[in-house]
Amino acid sequence: MPLALSSTAATTSAPSPVFERFATHALLPITTRPDIVFTRGSGSWLYDHDGKRYLDFIQGWAVNSLGHCHPVMRDALAAQSGLLLNPSPAFYNEPMIALADLLSGLSGLGKVFFANSGAEANESAIKLARKWGQMHPDAAGRARHEIITFANSFHGRTLATMSASGKPGWDTIFAPQVDGFPKAALNDLASVEALIGPRTVAVMLEPIQGETGVVPATADFMKQLRALTEARGLLLIVDEVQTGCGRTGTLFHHQQAGVRADIMTLGKGIGGGVPLAAMLCRDELAVFQPGDQGGTYNGNPLMCAVGLAVMRTIAAPGFLAFVQAQSEYLSAGLLKLSATYGLEGERGAGLLRALLLGRDIGPQLVEAARELSPDGLLLNAARPNLLRFMPSLNVSRDEIDQMLTLLHGLLAKHI
Ligand SMILES: *Cc1c(COP(=O)(O)O)cnc(C)c1O
Repeated sequence: MPLALSSTAATTSAPSPVFERFATHALLPITTRPDIVFTRGSGSWLYDHDGKRYLDFIQGWAVNSLGHCHPVMRDALAAQSGLLLNPSPAFYNEPMIALADLLSGLSGLGKVFFANSGAEANESAIKLARKWGQMHPDAAGRARHEIITFANSFHGRTLATMSASGKPGWDTIFAPQVDGFPKAALNDLASVEALIGPRTVAVMLEPIQGETGVVPATADFMKQLRALTEARGLLLIVDEVQTGCGRTGTLFHHQQAGVRADIMTLGKGIGGGVPLAAMLCRDELAVFQPGDQGGTYNGNPLMCAVGLAVMRTIAAPGFLAFVQAQSEYLSAGLLKLSATYGLEGERGAGLLRALLLGRDIGPQLVEAARELSPDGLLLNAARPNLLRFMPSLNVSRDEIDQMLTLLHGLLAKHI
């Protein structure tokens, strides 16, 4: 059999409109994409190849903290692109220094390492903890390397971060796993305690499990976990890739439980839509030697300049109070819908929320919402029985109302 390499041979069934206008066949299929090509975005709105607009409550998966193409990001990109793109991570650049200084001041964690994705920031946290575990071995002098993580957690798609994740099925999909990531149950301190052994070096936690359906670690659990890890000489790593940078109404979500982390990872919202992530740690944990960790694009001025503009906007007076107000408004609106349609309520923090449908109609609603006209609505069903909402942090009341009205109409049809 000859391999079908030409575009015509690859298309056997009737082509959809998008396939007629765009040669999508060269893209390695990794997900099922709808027949839409987005061409521009502005604030809470995305526009497709036909000019149809969509109210966006996904925002790049909780990434576009300031909405699409915010002027402060556009200006930062334009200005920095005319100055310096990448001198090499082996040299200092101004945006890198300024953003590290800002993040360190905002978080109280003294040291910052920049990465390009949440997974890479988490890899870095894992490597740092293992390095620290080599320097602080067990009683028999063996390096400590085990990091306790949680069932149903999500930490990224590299081999180590997939192994750290507790997503069902991920233990076998690209076997063998990277070992050393025993899984405890969220909000069950005894299950963590039972896994602590002589080789344990850290516990790694998402303060809210986003991908698994916006499932929060309780404040009590986080406090107890902090006390336990401290008592047993373990590091506490918080993965704030989804919950950090203002998403839940405070700069970092674990602050709401009043706990201090040893290591924190940031991604998604920190870049407002550009590839930027960071790992932060306490000064005493800065144990990498030259050559242990790095990367070609780490701390490049272009992305750091954008991150600086985004984080300055989020940290400006009044911004987080606005997020909290929008959060209460969205939460109340979702609760009202829940009552109207006999659903199972809503949960979450800040502008990371889920509506619990009580039945597996999430994917159906997502599709119907997208196909609404004249305006479509972009929603996400993190699980089949719920909808997840991740609007921009500067979403207006009017936009929240528009979303609720569209969702009202959809629920009336599908319940
Ligand atoms: C999205 C996410 C990651 C992975 O980030 P990428 O930038 O996709 O690599 C890691 N942890 C959490 C909690 C996330 O939500």
